Parts: sequence; C-alpha cells; structure tokens
Amino acid sequence: MSVFAFAEARDGVVRPVARETIAAARALAGPLGAQVDALVLGGEGVKASAASLVSSGADRVHVGESEALSRYSSEAYATLSTRFLQENGCEAAVFPATAMGKDLAPRVAARLGVGYAADCTDLQVEEGRVIAIRPRYAGKVFSRESFSGKPAVVSVRGNVFKPEESAGSAEMLSLEVSLQGADFGAVVREIRAGAAARMDVGEAPIVVSGGRGLRDPENFKMLEELAEALGNAAVGASRAVVDAGWRPHGEQVGQTGKTVSPQLYFAIGISGAIQHLAGMRTATYVVAINKDPDAPIFKIADYGIVGDLFDVVPRLTEEVKKMRRQ
Ligand code: FAD
Repeated sequence: MSVFAFAEARDGVVRPVARETIAAARALAGPLGAQVDALVLGGEGVKASAASLVSSGADRVHVGESEALSRYSSEAYATLSTRFLQENGCEAAVFPATAMGKDLAPRVAARLGVGYAADCTDLQVEEGRVIAIRPRYAGKVFSRESFSGKPAVVSVRGNVFKPEESAGSAEMLSLEVSLQGADFGAVVREIRAGAAARMDVGEAPIVVSGGRGLRDPENFKMLEELAEALGNAAVGASRAVVDAGWRPHGEQVGQTGKTVSPQLYFAIGISGAIQHLAGMRTATYVVAINKDPDAPIFKIADYGIVGDLFDVVPRLTEEVKKMRRQ
C-alpha cells in the first residue's frame, strides 16, 4: 500500500515545500500502514537535487528528469502523475497547495474520476479511510471530508505540516519519461522574473504585511527593513494596497490573494477585513500594529500593539537588530 507525494521542483531544484508534502503523506501513511512514494519531475539537475529527499521521510523517491519537463506543463505533469498513480494503485495522493499544486491536483483527480479536497490543514485516517480537514467560508468553519473513490486526492496548505528529518533511507529510483508533443497542451516559451528575487510570501516562515495605514508605497521600505532584520521573512500586502498599485499581486494575502500559514505574521496598518483574515488566520502567531484599538485585526492577534506604525515599526526593527547581534 502506498501514499503518493508530489515533491515540487522548479528550475531543476526541489523546493522546500516538497518536504512538507512528504510529511503530510507520512501523516496518512502511518495509520494506513502504507509507504510513501514521492515523485519529483523536472529538467536537468533535478535528480541531483532530489537526492536531498532521502532523509525526508519518503520510502521511495521517483525522479523523472527530462529537458521536456524543465518548465512546468499542466498537461505533461498531469499525464505523468496520473500514470504513476494508476500503475501504483495509491491510497491517497498529496500535492502542495502552491500555484503548481493547485493547477495539477484537480487535473489528476479529474483524469482519475475521483474526488479532490483542496488546501487542507490536517489529514487523518478513521477506520482506514482518509479524512481531509479544510477551512471553509474564509476560515470560519472547518469541514471534514471523506472520499468514496481511490486515491483520495488532496492538496495541503504551506507551513502546516512540519518537514521530517529521517535517517536518510529512501530508495532513489528513476522514472522513465516518455512523452509526445501531444502530451503538452501548451508550452511555456519564456518566464520573466519579477524585479527582486524575494522570498515567496506563501513559503516564508515569517510574513511582514502592510496595508493602507502605510499611506504611501515608499513607506513599505520600513517593512522591508523589518523583514530583513528578522531574516527568513517575506513582505506581504492587503488587497487595498495591491489594488492601489503599491505592491505586486504576488504579495497579496487573503481570499483573492495567497493563503499563508507562517509561524509569525505581522499585520501592520491592516484593519483585518474578513477577506484578509481568510488568507492568514492559520498563522501560528499574529502580531498586529494599528492605531485604532477597535480594529478587527486585534480580535485574532496574539500580540497587539496600539500605536502609530511610523513610531512602532522603526523601534521594533532596531530591537530585532539588537537581539540578533547578541
Ligand atoms: P483599511 O481597511 O483602510 O485599513 C487600514 C488600517 O490602517 C486601519 O485599520 C487603520 O486604523 C490603520 N492605520 C492607519 N494609519 C495608521 C498608522 N499611522 N499606524 C497604525 N495603523 C494605522 N483584502 C485583502 O487584504 N486580501 C484579499 O484577498 C481580499 N479579497 C477581497 C475579496 C472580495 C470579494 C472583497 C469584496 C474584498 C476583498 N478584500 C481583500 C478587501 C478587504 O475587504 C479590505 O478592503 C482590505 O483588506 C482593506 O485593506 P487594509 O486593511 O490595508 O485597509
């Protein structure tokens, strides 16, 4: 018996989220008495990068390395994943709820004619059946979903499942990649990277988000400095400032932006509208800085600072720098 984990790679490098996906698959494999089969697809170099997954908790790591896979292709990746699942008769298939995983998982489920639970925050097994737990209505309720067919296809939210560090015993296997032109519905010819290669807001363990309270796009420099002082942090934004063109859409947190689950989330000059909370309420700790003591963000904040952000943030950054120097 086996549980499948799609171990995401980009540009020939396995992404950190791959270990989380494998940890989520492991959470099912334990009670099911199954093994974890991880699948890595990518271009040149991905095999070498996938070697790091020997200690991820997977039992087998299958690597399909081919120039044809160097850029993500919805159709080709779905073909290879579906084929793998059909050949191995897996009980469950776990994908990351990243842009790639959100595109791929439902395609695979549709091709297999089985159900799909997206953006899960917990996975359980009850009487041998997979149960997926996921937030609904912008995180106000959690639904528990079971599956009538097999495999149970799920995607899991980032930063929820803690990566494992095992003894390093996974078996590395090569997957034969046989694809034809017709297997690629569309081909990506070029990718133009955004201005700065910052940490992705969906992956960072710390997110420093700013809202309309910042008053001017220039003032986001203050948040960038705080993020830099903290290290391992990304800058996020509310929709109000993204709509105003102050920040790129890739940084938007919320219902129509990214869903983040960092260990630490700063909401700075953000009121805490329900649509914003939908994207960050599963953060482990929330720190809110707002001059309005009645701002809704304080209802879900673990630490609330009532004050002018232009006062508080520079002082906070200074303190963080001092602490890190010690
Ligand atoms: P505001 O609501 O204007 O809040 C600014 C805050 O800054 C206030 O609380 C104020 O007290 C504080 N402030 C002002 N000056 C200072 C200062 N000097 N110091 C400290 N605090 C200060 N929003 C999202 O964020 N993400 C989404 O994905 C999203 N999706 C949406 C989808 C739909 C269908 C709809 C209808 C709305 C969506 N919204 C989303 C918008 C959402 O409803 C809010 O309008 C938005 O989140 C507000 O952004 P904000 O908190 O930055 O601005």
